[in-house]
Amino acid sequence: MIMGIPEMVYMAKCSKCGTEVAKPEKTWTLAPKGKKAVTVGLYKCPSCGAFFRASSK
Ligand SMILES: [Zn+2]
Repeated sequence: MIMGIPEMVYMAKCSKCGTEVAKPEKTWTLAPKGKKAVTVGLYKCPSCGAFFRASSK
């Protein structure tokens, strides 16, 4: 189920086959202490089915 996708989501490239995936299955925010928070997306490649993560800056 897809929910709460922010508008500032970047295209991510599959690490296995290079297919560009526009919408992440899931996103969350990482905010390490003393560092700038980044949004991380979990993507599923429609071509090969691999899951991979990508972060926006
Ligand atoms: Zn792929």
